[in-house]
Amino acid sequence: MFDNLSDKLDKAFHVLKGHGQITEVNVAETLKEVRRALLDADVNFKTAKEFTNTVKEKALGQDVLTTLKPGQLMVKLVKDELIELMGGEAAGVDLSGSPSVILMAGLQGSGKTTFSGKLANFLKTKKTKKPLLVACDVYRPAAIDQLHVVGDQIGVEVFSDKGNSDPVAIAKAGIEHAKANGHNVVIVDTAGRLAVDEEMMNEISNIHTAITPNETLFVVDSMTGQDAVNTAKAFNDVLDFNGVILTKLDGDTRGGAALSIKSVVNKPIKFIGTGEKMDAIDVFYPSRMADRILGMGDVVSLVERAQEQYDEEEARKLHKKIAKNQFGFDDFLSQIQQIKKMGSMKDLLGMIPGAGKALKGMDIDDDAFKGVEAIIHSMTPSERSNPSLLNGSRKKRIAKGSGTSIQEVNQLLKQFNQMSKMMKMMQGGGGRKMMQMMQG
Ligand code: GDP
Repeated sequence: MFDNLSDKLDKAFHVLKGHGQITEVNVAETLKEVRRALLDADVNFKTAKEFTNTVKEKALGQDVLTTLKPGQLMVKLVKDELIELMGGEAAGVDLSGSPSVILMAGLQGSGKTTFSGKLANFLKTKKTKKPLLVACDVYRPAAIDQLHVVGDQIGVEVFSDKGNSDPVAIAKAGIEHAKANGHNVVIVDTAGRLAVDEEMMNEISNIHTAITPNETLFVVDSMTGQDAVNTAKAFNDVLDFNGVILTKLDGDTRGGAALSIKSVVNKPIKFIGTGEKMDAIDVFYPSRMADRILGMGDVVSLVERAQEQYDEEEARKLHKKIAKNQFGFDDFLSQIQQIKKMGSMKDLLGMIPGAGKALKGMDIDDDAFKGVEAIIHSMTPSERSNPSLLNGSRKKRIAKGSGTSIQEVNQLLKQFNQMSKMMKMMQGGGGRKMMQMMQG
C-alpha cells in the first residue's frame, strides 16, 4: 500500500538530515520534494499545493527552540497534515433506523457487491446486527447471483426479485421484507455502469429518494486515481452521499484517491477494502493511514486483529500445556492457523513499523507457512506431541514426505525449541528474565 509515496516522502525528509535548524531554504527544498511525491501519487494538483503551503507556514512559524530536529519536525508536520487531509477523525456509520438502510452507489466493477457482502459480514460479527442484502441490479442477472453467492458465504439473507425490472420497487419490497423478518440493517446493492451516465444517475437518485437511506455510501476503486475523484464528484452532485468506500487498497495503488477525495467532495472515507475475501474490510482511520504512509506501521490495527482472534479458552489450555511441558507441534500448528486468520502476510507485515520499507519489492508469499505446515503434517501424531523422538532417520522421512530438506526440518525444530523455551520463561513469571535475555 502506497510504497512509492512512502519512499518518496522519506527521501524528501532526507533533505533536512544534518541541518541544525529549519530555514526558509531547506523547508522550501524539502517541500518541493514532498509536493512532487504527492503529485506522483496522483494527488490532485490544487490539493498538493495547499498541503505544502500549510506545512510551510507551520514549519516556519515553529519556535526555533523546539526540541525536535528539523527532520523529525517535518515528519510530524507532514503527518498532521496527512491526517487532516484524510478527514481527521474516523467517521462512523449511522445504524439508528429500524431497520437502518444503507444504499450502495458506484460504477460497475468498483467493488459494490463485494463490499456489500463485507459490510453485512462486518455488521453481523462486530455489531451483532441482523443484516439483509437487497439485490437491485436489474440489468445483469449475474450480479444478482453474485450477491446470493456472497450472502451464502457469510450466512446473510439476500432479497431479490429476478423478474422485476424496477429497482425502486425491489428496494422498497426489500425494506418491507426486512421489517417483517426482524432484520435491523438493510444493505441495498445497486447497478453501476462503466462510466458516469445520466440514466444511472437518474436511477440511483430515484432509489435514493424513494427509500431515504440512513447512509448512502459511494464505492470507488482506489486504483483509478484521479478518475476516482472525478467520479466521486459526479455522484456527490446528484446524491449528496454520506461517505466513501475505497476498495482495492491491497493492490498497487498510488494512493491519490485516498488523499484527495475528502478535500474534493468533503465527505469522509468510512471503510477500505483490502482484498477479495469477505473479511478484507477495515474501518478507515486517517491517523493510522498516515502512519502507514510514513512507514511508521500500524501497530494499533495489528493488535486489534490479534485480539479479534484471541480465544480465551484456547489460551488457557495452551498455558496449561506449556506449564506441563506438553507444548507440541499440533499446538504450534494451531498457532500458525490463528496468525493466518489475522489476514494476509503482506498486510500484517506492512503494519509493523519500518517493515514495509524493509520488505519493499520482496515477494511475500501468502503461503509463507506452507513448508512448515507440510513438515508438521508429515510427522506422526506421537512425533508431534513428543518432538524429542525426532532422530536422524525420522527427520529424513519427514523431509522426504513434505518435499523439504533435512536442513529445513532442523531449522523448524530449532525454532520450535526456542519458542517452547521462551514460552516456558514467560509462564514462570520470567518476564523479567526474558527482558534480560533479550537485552543480552
Ligand atoms: P461491482 O460491479 O461494483 O459490484 O464490483 P464487484 O463487487 O463485482 O467487484 C469487482 C471485482 O473487484 C471483483 O473481481 C472483486 O473480487 C474485486 N474486488 C472488490 N473489492 C476488492 C478489494 O478490496 N481488493 C481486491 N483486490 N479486489 C476487490
